Amino acid sequence: MVLALNKTFVLICLLMAACCVAAESAEKLSLASNERLIETKSSFAGYSAVLLKSDIQWNAWDSTMYGTLTRRGMEVVWEEESIIDTPASLAQYDMIAMNVRHKFTPAQIEGLKSFLASGGGIYITTSPCWGGNDLINEDFLRLCGAESYSFLKIKELTLMDSPLTEGFGQTKLLLPIWVGHTWNTEGIDVMSFVVKDGNSVIRDNEGKSLGILKEHGQGRTAILSVSPENYKFCFPDSEVLMADRIFDNTLRWLMPGGHKENLRPNVIQVNLPRRAEVVSVFLDNKPVKEPVVRCVGSLQTVSVPVASVKPGKTATVKITYKPLSKARNIETWVHHPGGEFCSVFKTPSEAVDFLVRLNVTHVLPGLRSAGGITFYRGIPGDVTYNKIKEYSGDYLSEYIAECHRRGIRIIGGFYMSNRAVLDKYPKAAWIGKNGKPADDPWVCLNNPKGQEHNIEAFRQLVEDYQLDGIMLDDNYQMIDRPCYCDYCKNDFKTYCQLQGITYKDTSSFTDDDAKLKAVWEQYMIAGTNVFCNKLKAICAGRGIPLGGWVNGVMSSTVHNAERFDFLGGMIYEVPAYAARGPVSILGERKFVNLLWAMNRLPEAMEAEVAEAVCSGNQAVGFWMQFYGRDDRKENWGLYTGKGGSVKNQNWFVEPGGLDSIARAFDRTEEMWLSWYKENIITGDRRFTVRSGVLQSDKLTIKIRNCGKIAAKKSNDAVDIKFLK
Ligand SMILES: [Zn+2]
Repeated sequence: MVLALNKTFVLICLLMAACCVAAESAEKLSLASNERLIETKSSFAGYSAVLLKSDIQWNAWDSTMYGTLTRRGMEVVWEEESIIDTPASLAQYDMIAMNVRHKFTPAQIEGLKSFLASGGGIYITTSPCWGGNDLINEDFLRLCGAESYSFLKIKELTLMDSPLTEGFGQTKLLLPIWVGHTWNTEGIDVMSFVVKDGNSVIRDNEGKSLGILKEHGQGRTAILSVSPENYKFCFPDSEVLMADRIFDNTLRWLMPGGHKENLRPNVIQVNLPRRAEVVSVFLDNKPVKEPVVRCVGSLQTVSVPVASVKPGKTATVKITYKPLSKARNIETWVHHPGGEFCSVFKTPSEAVDFLVRLNVTHVLPGLRSAGGITFYRGIPGDVTYNKIKEYSGDYLSEYIAECHRRGIRIIGGFYMSNRAVLDKYPKAAWIGKNGKPADDPWVCLNNPKGQEHNIEAFRQLVEDYQLDGIMLDDNYQMIDRPCYCDYCKNDFKTYCQLQGITYKDTSSFTDDDAKLKAVWEQYMIAGTNVFCNKLKAICAGRGIPLGGWVNGVMSSTVHNAERFDFLGGMIYEVPAYAARGPVSILGERKFVNLLWAMNRLPEAMEAEVAEAVCSGNQAVGFWMQFYGRDDRKENWGLYTGKGGSVKNQNWFVEPGGLDSIARAFDRTEEMWLSWYKENIITGDRRFTVRSGVLQSDKLTIKIRNCGKIAAKKSNDAVDIKFLK
């Protein structure tokens, strides 16, 4: 124990040293916890951007980009790369934001050149860069100023004196050793360039370029490997503001002439708390016919056409709704992935004390592991955790009852398992592309026989315990682990026949089979939907919702949305504002923004909760895994030592971290109210709110068309006392 403790200390010292050195290099930008990114900035109001979709499923790069541009007030559309085929459709935008992985056609490269010629700016992030090089277009890289590229691991970098570092100058940066659950002790993977032309603005220790700015007549490109739009990628917790400043500088440099005089949408959104049920909408006492009402995160948005309100004029918007209940606007979650509620705490009531201390409204304990271990009395074939077996009562039932007694909702986390399945049905094994099962055998979740035991285990959990919902953990998706068993191949054959598509053995796919591969992906998505629908029906039988994790990526959010009642994003390696992407496309479906709690600076966690609330999230939470705890030094948080020299098994909550979470969760309603007050109207940025009052069954506001983009939408103008 002593040895392990020492190692923990060594680790802490290492981490602190990393933060200190980095902080010294940019003292001017040192962290002030109360001035992080919690305000919705509007420095780029009036600008508009196209965000290109790409194949990248990792690291939520698309949601991060969407989040960071929209929080600056930009209008962002999320489009297929085919939009470049018609350059005229790009003309209205000020910039294109993209990942480097695009296999552009020569015609598309020409399209991008003409966008640049018209004065457009293109921002290219090269992170995350792993996943193969086949989608990197060298002609496009040359257009951006790179002669060639390679991948390397870096532990530090230098931001040169350049437009990027305006306001603070050349800066050396030590990179964080971990990001969320990923440890980068060997360095961070980045793409580096040999510069052809353009200005190399970031370098590694050997002088290799990690970023190039290049002018193209009026237009400009910026290709960066350090991803300042994601302050968690290359920046320690203490350097959030530096990352933010660099990205601001990049955008200003990309679009030096300001924004184009775009046609204004002439529509504003008037926003209500999410639970509002709108009855009628009036503009200057005239009813708005068939108003578009849509749920977006913590808001119910009502679109009001305002073309009739000319520049300099004012108008009154009145929205009536069913009487609003007094209720919270933000849910606060804790997710314990293992059986912490029974392994770390001695009794159900002690486990709930911990939740109450943190001001939690929802707890999500992992109840069944991928190995079929259950933290409740499961069915034969699964393995009940010892403490549950030894406990005199039914531990989980008592925990649920105690949560309910103290006003906390409890959602059960559920992993699919292969235990017990393969003994009974050896042919239901998952098969890899090489025709062999995995070394650690796994089950085919497309095969009904492979689903059988998992569905039975699921049914028993739902029917025997009074949970408020179930959430599938991350091993239910076929697309994450394509299976090449006979069942899958034959079933895909039938799927192709039904659609009149020529079938080909999935094991023999080559790069030329891109179209059929896309059909196969659709097949796998459909297969997972069928499986999830069976589970959803079981939940519906008890009137509880089924949720699932989507990793925070916009594209994965889309194909997951239909199969669940609510979704969650593990927002560990990207900023909390990345959730703006999924929230923007989910409508009624709730999204849980799950943040990382281990080894974080307490003030950074507190700021991140505020950032999540101000990104429009309705639910924010923390992932906390505990193997054990040290009662003598509770302020050191809960650590294990059990992982020995394996650092990522020594996760712990920093001293003061629990108090930080408790404080942040306690303040979420207050944060939401002040954010809501400033965001009562969104949409056409020429409009501001002059005055207004929110009552139990109606909101009345006076709006004004300022004729040009207004810096502030609302100067504390609306009385929302009713919600307090
Ligand atoms: Zn299969």
